[in-house]
Amino acid sequence: MGESRRLLAIRGEMMSESRIEQLCIDKGMKMTDQRRIIARVLSESEDHPDVEEVHRRSSEIDNRISIATVYRTVRLFEEAGIIERHDFGDGRARYEEVTEEHHDHLINVQSGAVIEFQNTEIERLQEIIARDHGMRLVGHKLELYGVPLKKGAGK
Ligand SMILES: [Zn+2]
Repeated sequence: MGESRRLLAIRGEMMSESRIEQLCIDKGMKMTDQRRIIARVLSESEDHPDVEEVHRRSSEIDNRISIATVYRTVRLFEEAGIIERHDFGDGRARYEEVTEEHHDHLINVQSGAVIEFQNTEIERLQEIIARDHGMRLVGHKLELYGVPLKKGAGK
């Protein structure tokens, strides 16, 4: 496929809004083509990418998108409460779409891979700890750091 055909095909795909783009529109944000692409890349990512990775994926769709634009846009989405920033201990800010389903993270410190998990027992214990200290829990952040027990595990 020629470059222009390929771009047209991508543009066609871009006609339908990604979830993040829809949230931006709902919040009255002005959506440029570049913002739409970055929104789509973030919506489709399930691996908590950092800004450089979001930039790499976005520039595959439109190579005019600069890293500065990605930084600005990601910050904008974060401030609007549409995406969430994490620091998984390596000093890189990583992002994911804010979801209604709560989850915690288990980070493989060798590969940087992030596993999402939910554990009702942990959730319950956290409520109890807060209550024991005379508080009502309104949120929490839990990050576990590990290394695989066996080669190839913990991806
Ligand atoms: Zn996550």
